[in-house]
Amino acid sequence: MTDVLIGLGSNLGDRWKNLTRAIREINTIENTKIVKKTSFLKTKPHRAPGPDYLNGVVKITTSLGPEELLDRLREIEAKLGRKHTFKNAPRLIDLDILLYGNQKIKTNKLTVPHPGIKTRDFIKKLLLEIEPNLK
Ligand code: ADP
Ligand code: MG
Repeated sequence: MTDVLIGLGSNLGDRWKNLTRAIREINTIENTKIVKKTSFLKTKPHRAPGPDYLNGVVKITTSLGPEELLDRLREIEAKLGRKHTFKNAPRLIDLDILLYGNQKIKTNKLTVPHPGIKTRDFIKKLLLEIEPNLK
């Protein structure tokens, strides 16, 4: 089993409900359990104009590999009604793999640690709620 941190974001519709539903769905992924959840934080969109985001982070433990986990997360995004329209478009739900154990991954599908960790203050803030000793 590997500890994984997943970043959640929503800036369309009932954002609180979208994050809550996504967390419930994540908990139903096979061989996966939620270990910790952060509070939800309201943030300004940083890459494109649009409504404010609500963001959260969950820590899971899973036996799925990173690509398999990403597929499950994309299925949840689709189930919750996310339409992939254009880059940085407002979205009902965005689920990103922030950290996958201590692995470094760089493929067409995946960059882990997620590049946003370093640049987005709110991710740092939320990660510290879960891992106060994270460097
Ligand atoms: P973003 O999250 O960058 O706003 P999307 O959710 O539309 O945009 O994701 C775009 C692509 O990012 C996906 O097709 C996925 O393959 C890729 N990707 C790369 N690294 C990651 C990661 N760590 N977590 C989630 N998706 C990732
Ligand atoms: Mg994403």
